[in-house]
Amino acid sequence: MSEILEQLRTWITTAWDPELSLVEWRGRLADAGWACPTWPREWGGRSLPATAADLVSETLASAGVPGPPDGVGMHLAAPTILEHGPDDLRRRLLRPTVTGEIVWCQLFSEPGAGSDLAGLTTRAERDGDAWIVSGQKVWTTGAAHADLGLLLARTDWDVPKHRGITYFVLPMRQPGVEVRPLRQMNGHASFNEVFLDRARVPADHLIGQVGEGWKVALTTLAHERRLAPGRRATPSGRIAGRAWREAIAERIAASEPHKWYPQRAGRPDLVIARAVAVGKAKDPVVRQEIAKLVALGWSAKWTAQRAAAARALGRLPGPEGSLGKLASSAIARAAARVHALLADASGMLAGSDAPLDGTIAEIFLSVPAITIAGGTDEIQRNILAERILGLPKEPETERDVPFRRVPRNV
Ligand SMILES: Cc1cc2nc3c(=O)[nH]c(=O)nc-3n(C[C@H](O)[C@H](O)[C@H](O)COP(=O)(O)OP(=O)(O)OC[C@H]3O[C@@H](n4cnc5c(N)ncnc54)[C@H](O)[C@@H]3O)c2cc1C
Repeated sequence: MSEILEQLRTWITTAWDPELSLVEWRGRLADAGWACPTWPREWGGRSLPATAADLVSETLASAGVPGPPDGVGMHLAAPTILEHGPDDLRRRLLRPTVTGEIVWCQLFSEPGAGSDLAGLTTRAERDGDAWIVSGQKVWTTGAAHADLGLLLARTDWDVPKHRGITYFVLPMRQPGVEVRPLRQMNGHASFNEVFLDRARVPADHLIGQVGEGWKVALTTLAHERRLAPGRRATPSGRIAGRAWREAIAERIAASEPHKWYPQRAGRPDLVIARAVAVGKAKDPVVRQEIAKLVALGWSAKWTAQRAAAARALGRLPGPEGSLGKLASSAIARAAARVHALLADASGMLAGSDAPLDGTIAEIFLSVPAITIAGGTDEIQRNILAERILGLPKEPETERDVPFRRVPRNV
């Protein structure tokens, strides 16, 4: 591995020019296979093992150059398209996703289909060289700025629910797509409702085959569940030039609606300093809760390392993603509990007079999100119970019933 990283450092000295635009620089990274080194060579990677990803991104950061963008495009769209194709979409969409020219959102959840995602009722009907899509999506993060959406829609109502779904790439900027922001209880507005009224999807914008969307969706969900929140190497060296200006502007714009995301993880990083600052570091109850929190954090870290080792051996993400997701929820809740013990009633205050300028109150109002996003805690427990513990599956009375005949709210 050290030889490969040395090659990368040498390549950076010849390829990096701070006055390139961000897209031009990322284009160079992509063409050389350094943007996504674990991807197959034919799709712009270097076919390196999964363990190389972090090492390459740390090397880019320590050389003081920007890397590929964060977000739904790199974390969900690209791996799903890589795994299921078709080649035409791989050719057209992967590179502009890596350069940041295409921004994505995930159009899965609906008002009546969240945990029961396969019960979705957005419909797509074939009309000549396009599909016509109508329905409503909800909780769509980043929809207001997205160029393309990963869309699940029902294309066959006469087969059981999991078999009638197709996975589309929806162009977001068109008259049939209306995006309305939703305000959350913590005051931010990161999500949207998306209304689809005869929106058009070109016939070749399918990931996987017609009717096989559920299988493709499972790939996206597995990648979503194994996402480590906010992991990014910190760049060092001289941060200057056009590429960096654009990278920083992109990061600020992308993180603006999500600036509460660190709080939804419960901010365990703050608890010890807060315990000292408020004079409760010697309180035995507080110490016990902090010790539980630290123990949870370490066990989650080791589980994540075991999962990374499994991926390095070439295994696709599986139920271990659910373990990690559940652990993030447990840590966030435990951290919020410690913050509540430390802050007492003042933790309910918002604004500049409140503890940490209102950050503590924002933690309390944001932690519930981590227990819901990407599949609720209960759903992760169901997955673990069935796939790891081998417990009997939940009764599925609708499994073989044509979706048209399944009772549902209308
Ligand atoms: C921060 C955040 C970001 C999100 N971003 C996106 C996005 O970009 N795109 C997108 O498509 N969606 C997004 N979502 C939506 C998210 O995927 C759904 O909220 C989630 O799947 C739960 O669905 P629901 O809200 O409809 O709740 P429901 O499914 O209605 O669940 C309600 C309650 O019932 C419980 N429950 C339901 N079924 C079962 C069961 N079988 N067994 C036990 N308990 C059960 C649930 O655990 C929950 O407590 C986001 C959500 C959040 C909080």
